[in-house]
Amino acid sequence: MDTNLPVSGNPRVVIIGCGFGGLRLAKSLRHAPVQVVVVDRNNYHNFQPLLYQVATGALEADSIAYPIRKIFAGQKNFYYRMADVQRVDPTSNTVVTSVGDIRYDYLVLATGSLTNFFGLESIERNAMQIKSIPNALNLRSFIFQNFEKALLTDNPEEKQALMNIVVVGGGPTGVEISGSLAEMRKHVLPKDYPELNLGAMQIFLVEAGPALLGPMSPASQADAKRYLDELGVRVMVNTSIKRFENCRAYFSDTEFIPTENLVWAAGVNGAEVPGLPAEVVARNKRITVNAWNQVPSLPNVFAIGDVANMVTDEMPRGLPMLAPVAQQQADHLAANLQRLLRGETPKDFVYTNKGVMAIVSRNKAVVDLPKNIHFNGIFGWFTWLFVHLMTLVGFRNKVVAFVDWAFSYFSSDQALRLIIRPFSRKDLKDDKGKKSAEHRVATPQYNAPPPAIQAPAAG
Ligand SMILES: Cc1cc2nc3c(=O)[nH]c(=O)nc-3n(C[C@H](O)[C@H](O)[C@H](O)COP(=O)(O)OP(=O)(O)OC[C@H]3O[C@@H](n4cnc5c(N)ncnc54)[C@H](O)[C@@H]3O)c2cc1C
Repeated sequence: MDTNLPVSGNPRVVIIGCGFGGLRLAKSLRHAPVQVVVVDRNNYHNFQPLLYQVATGALEADSIAYPIRKIFAGQKNFYYRMADVQRVDPTSNTVVTSVGDIRYDYLVLATGSLTNFFGLESIERNAMQIKSIPNALNLRSFIFQNFEKALLTDNPEEKQALMNIVVVGGGPTGVEISGSLAEMRKHVLPKDYPELNLGAMQIFLVEAGPALLGPMSPASQADAKRYLDELGVRVMVNTSIKRFENCRAYFSDTEFIPTENLVWAAGVNGAEVPGLPAEVVARNKRITVNAWNQVPSLPNVFAIGDVANMVTDEMPRGLPMLAPVAQQQADHLAANLQRLLRGETPKDFVYTNKGVMAIVSRNKAVVDLPKNIHFNGIFGWFTWLFVHLMTLVGFRNKVVAFVDWAFSYFSSDQALRLIIRPFSRKDLKDDKGKKSAEHRVATPQYNAPPPAIQAPAAG
């Protein structure tokens, strides 16, 4: 297939991925003497930090996504092809995609990350993940479908399993989704399901490390734990889920939580693209880059954002996988590419940490700023809302998100709970949108006498 990209007199910069990094880089190159070609498998930019709000019915999917073509309308040097990149061939300077080959002068990998299941096959097969808009919509439907099913069974373990939710991973995503689910249990589910004993529904947040919000300050960690305790979330630290099958999340061969709903938010790997030399693929499948975001031994290939492994003296395990890192690297690389075109030496990238935050629930958020500044509560919550509203792409999205949040705040309700995308486990897809042949439906064994419900004590 021919990708029909025009030949211009300017060098071509191909950017794979239009997430936080790719979008920012393409925009920053708008006045540069280059042809910018963006390739992404989705025709929209996805604002991942708010995915959990789509999953819990607080925001519409449309308000956290924005069409790529609309973002770049009017940018004369910009071209987009909706395609899955399958391979890179650095010897011929070519990207092999699902719609044909694309030649590049400069290549930038901005492919982000994929869920890391740490080789736990039963979890990969049966757990829900939250990396994409389809993931979030599936999770939302699945939870409400299970509540509908809970009405129909008299088997106590099955009822419990259908209502229980286990979130694995105590980072910002796990904390945010647990808090949001606890609010849903308090304000939404009792109105919709008065026939169910919601006092029996349990939300567990399971974290393998010793504390929630690992990279944040001890004060934020303690505040988040306290907020979740107040919301009735059972926080379990120093605890690992080993298996998830037959609707049970197992900690060991004998200890388990009965649940149909396991949300895996425990880690990510770089979304590497095949074709690069093996030695540049670092831990977590991130691509090794130098301080110019350049891939060693490939002078015209760069990587930014989550997929890039940039090691610094302060961060020997690589810069964190955060949106601001991707955006700052994009701005810096745009300037460096123009330096290279002028025959100048590029400058080293320096990451500026402007702070980290996590929301737990209404009026409850934690914020860490540089210089050990920490705040929480309603001030943290307003800060979180403001920052996320301002960084959402598109005026319409900002307005819709603001209206949805204001509605939820004043009504204690989440309007979005239609099951318009019925979901079953056999529909589980990998992050590339392909159905995996290995995904099977876990077969519940509810005909057996219900075993005692066991779970380790809350940590
Ligand atoms: C649920 C969740 C919550 C988060 N919360 C926060 C937060 O609160 N604050 C924060 O700073 N960060 C947060 N993050 C992390 C943040 O979203 C990432 O750090 C950021 O998106 C990285 O940007 P990126 O450009 O590297 O990749 P992404 O934004 O992930 O973009 C990658 C793009 O590449 C495309 N792509 C990938 N592979 C291919 C391929 N082979 N072919 C074609 N297209 C491809 C994808 O479709 C995607 O559009 C969160 C992430 C998640 C999942």
